Amino acid sequence: MHISSLTRFPIRLAAILPLAAILAAAPPAAAQEGLKIYISADMEGVVGTVTGEQLGPSGFEYERARRWMTEEVNAAIRGARASGATEIVVSDSHGNGQNLLLDELPQDITVIRSWPRPLAMMAGIDDTFDGAIFIGYHTSTDNSAGVRAHTMSSARLTSVKLNGVPVPETGLNAAIAGYFGVPIIMLSGDDAIAEEATDLLGDLETAVVKKAYGFHSAETLMPAAAYRLIEETAARAVARIEDFEPWDLGGPIELEVSFKNYRPVEVLGYLEIAERIDSHTIRYTGTDMIAVENFLTFLLNYDSNAAP
Ligand SMILES: [Zn+2]
Repeated sequence: MHISSLTRFPIRLAAILPLAAILAAAPPAAAQEGLKIYISADMEGVVGTVTGEQLGPSGFEYERARRWMTEEVNAAIRGARASGATEIVVSDSHGNGQNLLLDELPQDITVIRSWPRPLAMMAGIDDTFDGAIFIGYHTSTDNSAGVRAHTMSSARLTSVKLNGVPVPETGLNAAIAGYFGVPIIMLSGDDAIAEEATDLLGDLETAVVKKAYGFHSAETLMPAAAYRLIEETAARAVARIEDFEPWDLGGPIELEVSFKNYRPVEVLGYLEIAERIDSHTIRYTGTDMIAVENFLTFLLNYDSNAAP
């Protein structure tokens, strides 16, 4: 309410004063305490990142991009803490899983690193968390918009569907959190994933740090502006954490995975649990999202030549 409306309507002000007194006495949203927040951090949706030059160790700008990613996570932590988060777990969920600069993060959090690991980008999540935040996320491989649009593996997969609906990593990971009753409260990334995530999950806070022009191009905010935006958005999301619903798909859940290549599908078709439904696609039905995610993690990690 604007001050001017109070002075213009003194009678109404008197009428609402008791309510105002009650509101003033109640703890504001920012005074919540003891919230436990899970942050899953990817890199394609981080400020400034557009190509492999930022996204992997061989790129000329990777070391700088690691800092941008780390500072975006720092900003989300600052915002979450301002609204009552006291316990933070961050999963380093891009590339080699060892992008975040540990010395630059608060020293009273924990970070989950490297692969393979159970539940992949959501490793470590359980029902003790109050909410989850996705930083640096990107669109699905089914989306024609978005910087570096892909789902789990741009080299190998052309589509991932849950119950017949194409999902980005945001959807897979929201469903894992949902299994544990944990809502996704915020996402940062480009404008395309903000739209895709909102269409899929409904209400969540989004911080758009760049506008996608193409698979390898974007108009980006400057890093400091992105950090400020993410901090404000995280603070807002945690302050109204009670508003968000977990994305719980229940079970059984039907997973369909389409591969770029022919042979993985042919060989997976030998398994009784995986039905080959066309030349490039297999279908698996899991009892719940954990079974589905474990199957997907197996698909992406199994290698008979793997050592040790
Ligand atoms: Zn990534």
